[in-house]
Amino acid sequence: MSTQHDDADDDVENPPLEDRLYTVKYSDSGESHLDVTIPGICAEKCTTYACQEVCPADVWEVPDGDEPPHIAYENCLECGSCRWACSHGNVEWEYPETGNGVSYKFG
Ligand code: SF4
Repeated sequence: MSTQHDDADDDVENPPLEDRLYTVKYSDSGESHLDVTIPGICAEKCTTYACQEVCPADVWEVPDGDEPPHIAYENCLECGSCRWACSHGNVEWEYPETGNGVSYKFG
């Protein structure tokens, strides 16, 4: 196994995340596969909104006031990060109904 660094790797430019998200295809089941278990916990106890911080697809939007987060489930990449990031265990997460959800063009 080689451990040498190849300078050619430095010339590779990765497109911004927004551009890469355009390569992802979604099929909307019409029903969210994401939710919060107890809506009041978000406003009463959460100070970090880790769901919003970790999500690469801007699915979670935390409104001002006492409302629970708005969830744009149609954009979910199914990475599972929000489920594990919530320190209150308040994210309900399941895969979308079979045949729906995200599909990746390049892998
Ligand atoms: Fe965002 Fe990943 Fe959670 Fe989907 S599973 S809402 S992409 S953090």
